[in-house]
Amino acid sequence: MTDGMNSKAWFEKAQALLPGGVNSPVRAYKAVGETPRFIAYAKGAFVTDVEGRSYLDCMGSWGPMILGHAHPRVVDAVQLAASNGTSFGTCSPLEVELAERVVAAFPGIEKVRFVNSGTEAVMSAVRLARAATERSKILKFAGGYHGHADHLLAEAGSGIATLGIPATPGVPKEFTQPTLTAPYNDLASVERLMEEHGRDIACILVEPVAGNMGVVPPEENFLGGLRALCDRHGALLVLDEVITGFRVAYGGAQERYGVRADLTTLGKIVGGGLPVGAYGGRRDLMDMLAPEGAVYQAGTLSGNPLAMAAGVATLDVLREESPYEHLERQGKTLQEGFEKAASAAGVPVTINRVGSMFTVFFSEAPVRDYASVQKSDAARFVAFFRAMLKSGIMLPPSPFEACFLSTAHSDADIKHTVRVAKRAFAKAAGAS
Ligand code: PLP
Repeated sequence: MTDGMNSKAWFEKAQALLPGGVNSPVRAYKAVGETPRFIAYAKGAFVTDVEGRSYLDCMGSWGPMILGHAHPRVVDAVQLAASNGTSFGTCSPLEVELAERVVAAFPGIEKVRFVNSGTEAVMSAVRLARAATERSKILKFAGGYHGHADHLLAEAGSGIATLGIPATPGVPKEFTQPTLTAPYNDLASVERLMEEHGRDIACILVEPVAGNMGVVPPEENFLGGLRALCDRHGALLVLDEVITGFRVAYGGAQERYGVRADLTTLGKIVGGGLPVGAYGGRRDLMDMLAPEGAVYQAGTLSGNPLAMAAGVATLDVLREESPYEHLERQGKTLQEGFEKAASAAGVPVTINRVGSMFTVFFSEAPVRDYASVQKSDAARFVAFFRAMLKSGIMLPPSPFEACFLSTAHSDADIKHTVRVAKRAFAKAAGAS
C-alpha cells in the first residue's frame, strides 16, 4: 500500500495531484512548517505512518474518534453493512435505528435528517431556520466555524483562522452580508445586534463550546442568555454540536449546560468516523422539510448504510460504557500535568478544556473569544507541536484547533504525553 515511499515522497506526489497535496487545508501542515505524516493505518489511540512510525493520536480525526481507531464493534458493524451492499438510494432500517438513538439522546430533537457532512447539516439547518421564520439574517460568532457554506465563512475559525485568510475569494459579498457576527461570550454585543436587527434575524448559530478557534468554553449564562434573546426576538437558537454532540456528554452541550435548542446540528461522532452529518429539532420545524413540507434538501448518499452502521455501533458503545467521567478524569490529569510542565519551563499557558477536548494557548491571559485567541504566541505553539511530533505525539497542526482524547487513551498514555510535554515546553520556551 505504501509503495516503499516515505511521507515526504507521498506529499510531493500528492502536491502534483491534489491542491496543496490535501483534501482539507489544515492537513497540509503549513502553519507548523512540517511534512504531513501519511497514515497507513490506525488502531486504538495510535496512528502509524507509511514509514512504520506510530504516533499517539491526540487529534482523533478532528473529533469523531471518541472510541479510538478501528474499534472492533465499529469495524464489525461496517463490515457487516458493507457485505450487505454499500448504498441503496432508498429506505433502510439502519437510518431509523440511528435516528432512534439520536432522538433519545437529545430531548430537543424530535425528528432528525441525516446528511453527509457537518457543512451540509449546518447549511440545511440555517435554510430551515430562514424558512420557518421568514427572515434572512443570521447571527454567528467570530472564530466560530460551521463548515464551508458561503454564508457561513464570515469571520470563521478553523482553517480560515489557521491560514489567516481574511475573506474567501469566490464568496460574493452579498452572500455574507446577511451574516452578522458578534464576539463569543459577549452577550451585551449580541443584545445590541438583536435590538437593532432582531426582527430580521432567523437564528443565532453557535458552537456551544467553541472548538474551531481552539477550545473556548461558554461563560456562565452565555448560552442561557442567547436562548432568552432568541425567545424575546422570535429567532431560533441553532446549536452546532458537530464537535460537542456525544463528546462533552452523551447528550452534547445541551445536556452538559442544560440549554434548549430549536435546531441542533451533529456530525463527527454520530457517524463513527464515516462521513455523516445530521440536523434535527422540533417536529413542527422538521416537518417543514420536503417531502412533508416545501423546504428542499436531498442527498444521493444520505443515510448511507455504512455510515449509519458505524454511528449505531459507536453510540451503543458510548451508551453502554458511559465513558464521560473517565474522559473527564483523563483530561484533567493531562491538563494539570501540562500546566505543571509549562510552569517549570517558564512558559505561560492557558489551557482551556471541556471534558476530553482541550487547547493549549501560549498566552497568560484568559482566552474567552477570538480576539484573545489571537494573542497566543504562534512561534511557541509551532516549537511545542514539532517537539511533540518528533517524540511521537500527534497534535492538530494549528494553534486554533482542539485536541481530543479517546477511550483508547490509557493512563500510561496520558502519563507518557505529560512526560514528553515537559521537553516540548522547554523547546517552546526558547522559541518566542
Ligand atoms: N460545525 C462545526 C462545529 C465543526 O467543527 C465542523 C468541522 O470541523 C463543521 C461544522 C463542518 O463539518 P464537516 O467538516 O464535516 O463539513
